Amino acid sequence: MRVHDLLPPPRMLMTPGPAEADPRVLRAMAAPLLGQFDPYFTGLMNETMELLRLVFQTQNHWAFVVDGTSRAGLEAVLVSLIEPGDRVLVPIIGRFGHLLTEIAERCGADVATLPCPWGTVVEPDALKAALQQHRPKLVAMVHGETSTGMMQPLEWAGALCREHGALLVVDAVATLGGVPVKVDEWGLDACIAGTQKCLGAPSGSAPVTFNDRAAALIERRRHVEQGLRGPQHRPGPGPRIRSNYFDLAMLMDYWSPVRINHHTEAGSMLYAVREALRCVAEEGLEARFARHRLHGEAVVAGVTAMGLELFGDRQHKMPQVTPVLIPEGVNGDQVRAMLLEDFGIEIATSFGPLHGKVWRIGTMGYSAQKRNVLLLLGALATCLRAQGFRADGAAAVDAALAVYRAAGA
Ligand SMILES: *Cc1c(COP(=O)(O)O)cnc(C)c1O
Repeated sequence: MRVHDLLPPPRMLMTPGPAEADPRVLRAMAAPLLGQFDPYFTGLMNETMELLRLVFQTQNHWAFVVDGTSRAGLEAVLVSLIEPGDRVLVPIIGRFGHLLTEIAERCGADVATLPCPWGTVVEPDALKAALQQHRPKLVAMVHGETSTGMMQPLEWAGALCREHGALLVVDAVATLGGVPVKVDEWGLDACIAGTQKCLGAPSGSAPVTFNDRAAALIERRRHVEQGLRGPQHRPGPGPRIRSNYFDLAMLMDYWSPVRINHHTEAGSMLYAVREALRCVAEEGLEARFARHRLHGEAVVAGVTAMGLELFGDRQHKMPQVTPVLIPEGVNGDQVRAMLLEDFGIEIATSFGPLHGKVWRIGTMGYSAQKRNVLLLLGALATCLRAQGFRADGAAAVDAALAVYRAAGA
């Protein structure tokens, strides 16, 4: 049998994930493998924890990665914190709120939801009323809801949850490394991120952090695996965590000096995450946030100049995702297919009620570059004209260039 060589076609990834990986990250992934308890490797694990604290803006001791895509991080946090029968509240502003609901239900929670129309965010009064009504042990919510392009303000959320005795768990999968995620200042008890969005790495690893309040609940449920258990290991009084792979108590042991064996750390992914975080630290958080804002503004200027309209509440738009209404009479999937085949550019459609109605343009991580934005705008206008929509590509590119010029970029 002869199987062809691996030669992926050149692509510009302008979706809300996966975004392009920084070449430095890809290079790090090609480094030789090490044993997971090799002192050099455990040193890399410790450095990764340190870098994660910086990027999550936290003093939490616990900051490490769960192997698996971002939803592995969501599952690990939720299954380790939720005991069957616990009341959980999930505000839903789009598809990923439904995902949190689904995971919490599978953990055996009694889930109450706070549904909001897609394209909007949750207001403090609505969350307060729901907290008073449902008295949850835990609130799980999404920071950057990529399905709608909306960013949920969280400055007030931690304090509000704490007043009502609830833990706050936040899905910052699409936001960490692109916009501020202030874990300590906002009072987030646990926060989960993604690597393939604003961090510029492939998918396959889920950064998580949680504070001592969350850690205490997990510690109560510590049950070291039979076969690894020694006389010093007393099972905690709480019910055993329902997943072995996602048992944060065991992962905490693995990510601490005791290094009790659990899974085999995905070594090449750890190299990738460490390098991606090193890139963030070198660029600087504020500069990185400014870069995401700038390219988001350039996309908005470009698409509006070509006669397109944005979806959702502009005030709460994520800088790194631009949701665009597909014009009447234009076949959204045909435009995306032409963009990919003729220009090698990928943009995203949307989910559920927005499928076929909204495109989502991502400017995340390494994809957030002037060259990408300008090429995309020119190409998109051409693809729209092929569908009979009179889009002015030159005006779009000029409008984006004006944004760059005004910013001195
Ligand atoms: C992409 C995304 C996820 C899922 O991430 P995977 O890495 O595909 O598991 C979850 N939440 C949000 C907000 C996302 O944007």
